[in-house]
Amino acid sequence: MNQYHYHNSKKKRKDPLGIVLALLLLAVAILLIVYFVRSKSPASPETGDQPALSQQTTTDPQASGSETPSRPLPSTEVQTTPVTTAAPTTGPATDENAWKLLLVNADHPLPEGFTVELKALRNGHHVDERIYPELQQMFDDARSAGIYPLINESFRTAERQQQILDKYIAKYEAAGMSHDDAVTKALTIVAVPGTSEHQLGLALDIIAEYDSDNNPTWNWLQQNCWRYGFILRYPKGKEEITGIDYEPWHFRYVGVPTAEEITESGLCLEEYLEKLNR
Ligand SMILES: [Zn+2]
Repeated sequence: MNQYHYHNSKKKRKDPLGIVLALLLLAVAILLIVYFVRSKSPASPETGDQPALSQQTTTDPQASGSETPSRPLPSTEVQTTPVTTAAPTTGPATDENAWKLLLVNADHPLPEGFTVELKALRNGHHVDERIYPELQQMFDDARSAGIYPLINESFRTAERQQQILDKYIAKYEAAGMSHDDAVTKALTIVAVPGTSEHQLGLALDIIAEYDSDNNPTWNWLQQNCWRYGFILRYPKGKEEITGIDYEPWHFRYVGVPTAEEITESGLCLEEYLEKLNR
């Protein structure tokens, strides 16, 4: 008993020293760790969320989608080179986007002194250069889906528009119509120069490249063109408002946000703009 008691008490006397030593060692270890971590911290942010990776992402030229593609684009092709689509992020009402919503119809002729920077496509076609990347992406994606669109009409000068009108007038006169009747009839099909959307460089007449049946191409475009900022400009049922017969081939660029709104709402451009300006 005594021995046990003695042993026990001796152990009690010995233990605090061991604990103190252990605590001292622990404290030194903690101090060393803290010192080590602090001396490292200025080089790496405390958030530790892979700053190197995010930096790489923002400086990678291929990752910046809002810039003009750094790769030179072929001037004669519209359907082969993939480009990053630059989706507009601002609303349609800003001045920066005004060009996308420019209304041209019988009541709204082209603004005086209107000019546009053109991009040459294959077969001598031209479009406003600002719509080219999205147009190309639309054609690329269509081809991936087994649809092969072909641009049949694009930008037209006023002179070209007059030539087309004259051709129709001559055709109807040759068929026996009076000049006035021939002009009236031609104007139901061809817009007066200065009032054709094709003079903006934002309108395209698109048909099927190989197939004699245009419908699969038009169906695909009608379902998907908004993703690239285009609308079916002269829809069925809006003839009274647009003043133009249903044209399943005629697509107009307005930018992605507006194209999405117009497609979802079922409004034509005239109706959409009226609502916007109300
Ligand atoms: Zn057209």
